[in-house]
Amino acid sequence: MSVPSSIAVLTSGGDAPGMNAALRAVVRRSVYEGIRIFGVYHGYNGLIRDEMIEMNVSSVSDILHRGGTILRTARSAEFMTSAGRDKALAALRGRGIEGLVVIGGDGSFRGALELMRLGFPVMGVPGTIDNDIEGTDYTIGFDTAVNTAVEAINKVRDTATSHERTFIVEVMGRDAGFIALAAGIAGGAEVILVPEEGRDLREICRRLTSGLRRGKLHLIVVVAEGAARAYDVAAGVTSEAGLETRVIVLGHLQRGGTPTAFDRILASRFGSAAVAALLEGRAGLMTGVRGDQLVFPELEACLAVRKRLDPELLKLAGILAI
Ligand code: ADP
Repeated sequence: MSVPSSIAVLTSGGDAPGMNAALRAVVRRSVYEGIRIFGVYHGYNGLIRDEMIEMNVSSVSDILHRGGTILRTARSAEFMTSAGRDKALAALRGRGIEGLVVIGGDGSFRGALELMRLGFPVMGVPGTIDNDIEGTDYTIGFDTAVNTAVEAINKVRDTATSHERTFIVEVMGRDAGFIALAAGIAGGAEVILVPEEGRDLREICRRLTSGLRRGKLHLIVVVAEGAARAYDVAAGVTSEAGLETRVIVLGHLQRGGTPTAFDRILASRFGSAAVAALLEGRAGLMTGVRGDQLVFPELEACLAVRKRLDPELLKLAGILAI
């Protein structure tokens, strides 16, 4: 694989706080290395339509602290077809671009793999609040989303205490409970419901009522959207245990906001490392972090495995909520 002298970067799929920090690092590392760098708008749709601009150091000024992505993001049905991917490839080659950094989630990485199969070098940078990508301890945006959820739980706790009510807080996580587990532990929830585990209404109610008997002034249930809908849990708790409940669905609030320092640093490391890898002639990999070390697992291997919740954290959640 030859060393590229010109590369492109795009953000794709669901946005996540810290994507801009990753973009900034990609652009600045490219400039530092003396190669040309193109920013592609609207994810894979922008590739297909050749919507890209050459970027320089100042193109990414003042974005480190911003949520979302200045390149915008999109979901592209056309890129799912081989005709669409051929157009994307033609646009890249037409501009003399020889490598691509894709900042996104697992769907975006499946698209990246398709480009790899066509012989185009791609590096993946995991950016999703869900943290559901194997091969890395953390994805960009997860820490910010968890902090947003914890802040909401803190506020809810004040009113839960004052009114002696049970609050059901629904957080994002259609298939994975990473946000719920982390926010639940950090927010001191009595019950945490994740899609990876079954839910038993009786057990939920037992925990809540035993908390009340011990004199707890507030009861908080954190539920990942994929485990159950908060309103169903609330109705169940009211009918089974007779508790008065209130529901908060955090929804898209968790996707926005200024990234935490953790996410900014992670994104900066990932963006810079992705460019360095392409310049070393490496591709088909993802940037990841294990412990505090940067790692570069194969994209294909990461996509083949479902990331598991940390069993120790799951156990801890049960112990602490006793
Ligand atoms: P995320 O990256 O956040 O998981 P999506 O799952 O929506 O988001 O994927 C983003 C985009 O990646 C899709 O709209 C599509 O253009 C592309 N993509 C996803 N899966 C594939 C695939 N199997 N082949 C080609 N492109 C894909």
